[in-house]
Amino acid sequence: GQPQADEVPWADGRTFEASLAPVPGVGSVAVLHDVTHFKELNRMKSEFVATVSHDLKSPLTVIYGYVDLLKETLPDLNQAAAESLEEIASSAQRMRDLITTLLDLAQIESGLDLAAQPCHMSLIIKDVLRSYRLQAQDKGVEFELNMDADLPIVKGHPVRLGQAVANLAGNALKYTPVGGRVTVSALVRDGGLLIQVSDTGPGIPLSKQAGLFGKFYKVGARETAAQEGHGLGLAIVKSVVEAHGGRVWVESTVGHGSTFSFSLPISTEEE
Ligand code: ADP
Repeated sequence: GQPQADEVPWADGRTFEASLAPVPGVGSVAVLHDVTHFKELNRMKSEFVATVSHDLKSPLTVIYGYVDLLKETLPDLNQAAAESLEEIASSAQRMRDLITTLLDLAQIESGLDLAAQPCHMSLIIKDVLRSYRLQAQDKGVEFELNMDADLPIVKGHPVRLGQAVANLAGNALKYTPVGGRVTVSALVRDGGLLIQVSDTGPGIPLSKQAGLFGKFYKVGARETAAQEGHGLGLAIVKSVVEAHGGRVWVESTVGHGSTFSFSLPISTEEE
């Protein structure tokens, strides 16, 4: 008796986005939307990004190696030349970071590295907050932790879950101005675990929220543009959370701040 929506694989290889809604007194209405083409496009895009990222790794390693060699063999370089070498090294490092992120994303999406184990979210969250404490102090942003006692265990990949929390907490810290506050909560809600990262930052306009978890998506608002990265952090959060059977969403009001939330199913296994 309830409306439903799901992706339905067809026997002939096509995929449909299907929604079914009851119409009282009449029956039901089913709407099928053929999304085969989009699925294929998405798969090709992911495959392309993974291949190119992988192929870019070797030339970058060569650049890195030669910068090191030049530094060693030419210790008396003049200041301009030394600065140029440093610039080459730091640009190569930025590119390496981006490639690592893209390869991470490809790996999470393919689900290959998700050998699940029991995870204590409280420890994972505390670890993440510890790693940001200095940065928060330097910036003058207050970090607050709000956790239910005795959080239940979730089944998953602790490194990837830590990465999801770190991306949300890192964004909150990055986009919240001096004097602001970031609150990380972990609560038991509706039979699952609810993790929330709230900030008192600039907020995100409603019109920009729909694509927020897509790859390479940046809001580009006046308050955030200068700090924006590659627009992959939230795509990683979504992939990690969905690979764990959870859901991710955002609530945000311009001028008041944002709350990013994700839910995780609680492990029911006794061990
Ligand atoms: P980026 O590397 O650009 O931070 P993300 O995928 O992590 O990429 O975030 C996508 C965009 O969402 C960011 O570019 C930024 O515009 C916006 N955003 C993310 N988190 C926040 C936040 N806590 N407050 C305001 N804007 C945010």
